[in-house]
Amino acid sequence: EAKATGKANYVVFDCALRDKAKARLKIENEIRLAIEREEFSLLYQPIVSLESGRTESVEALIRWKNEDGELIEPEEFISIAEETGMIVPIGNWVLREACRQIAQWEETLGPLAPVCVHVNVSRRQLALPNFASFILETTQHYGVEPGRLHIEVTESMIMHDREASIAILCDLKELGFKIDIDDFGTGYSSLSCLHAFPIDVLKIDREFVSNLNHGQDFGALLHTIVALADNLNLKVVAEGIENTNQLTLIQALGCEFGQGYLFSKPLLPEDLEQFLRNDAARPPCHWDVSPIQT
Ligand code: C2E
Ligand code: MG
Ligand code: MG
Ligand code: MG
Repeated sequence: EAKATGKANYVVFDCALRDKAKARLKIENEIRLAIEREEFSLLYQPIVSLESGRTESVEALIRWKNEDGELIEPEEFISIAEETGMIVPIGNWVLREACRQIAQWEETLGPLAPVCVHVNVSRRQLALPNFASFILETTQHYGVEPGRLHIEVTESMIMHDREASIAILCDLKELGFKIDIDDFGTGYSSLSCLHAFPIDVLKIDREFVSNLNHGQDFGALLHTIVALADNLNLKVVAEGIENTNQLTLIQALGCEFGQGYLFSKPLLPEDLEQFLRNDAARPPCHWDVSPIQT
């Protein structure tokens, strides 16, 4: 009897595994087709100067609306796309689309156009031998100055293969691109070796921001990070600012830039245009007075 039950369990387990593998294969195939079907789009989230309250830059964030019209979050498909290598064509599309958008905003918004667009890249892309020349050609094709493109890499990505990462980031930097460390603070070990990397911006992980009022530690650590960034001449962006309480704490710590739902969720290009026009019409430093205007 015990044997029979054991067998039945195997069958159940087998089916669950098979279903999982099937679902996985399905999503892999869908990702493969999604580019041709033009199912990806980019949203843009404002990065705000905490001194002036103005939006100077935006981060491009990918969205996927599949064949059935379902919205799939990047968290659900980026890692699969990374494992299968599909992140390369997707990432190339993202870079092209971001450059096309910068050029278009230049026409539609003129002086109100975002100065910089921050683009997330994956480890696979960074490891491509022709990555730097691909980005350069893309910016040239759209007539975009390299300095308007920030390449966001994560701490864990560059710590994984330090020497190779330093080399490629130096190449990018030499071509005029800006380099951001995204989700900073999630791997503490790197604090001491930051100086080895040619970085322009530290983006503080939103975990820090959301934990700021839960005890002293996060505040003290953030204070240290901001001081270090200052020493290294890096700009600091605090991610995930959701309320004025967090904004006040972040400002008190000397953080220069912020990003988060308090200012705006990621927006469609046309909504971002409206946001920037509204922004320009308001007095500076209006966030503490009237948060969330969209
Ligand atoms: P990330 O680069 O750290 O982007 C910030 C994420 O935080 C975004 O999630 C954004 O919508 C979210 N966020 C912004 N403000 C707030 C806030 O106030 N509260 C909360 N709770 N969340 C906030 P999203 O768009 O879902 O993207 C998730 C991650 O997926 C990104 O994290 C990035 O690692 C990756 N990703 C997004 N687009 C791309 C892409 O084009 N290429 C690659 N390789 N990765 C991408
Ligand atoms: Mg990012
Ligand atoms: Mg981040
Ligand atoms: Mg992230």
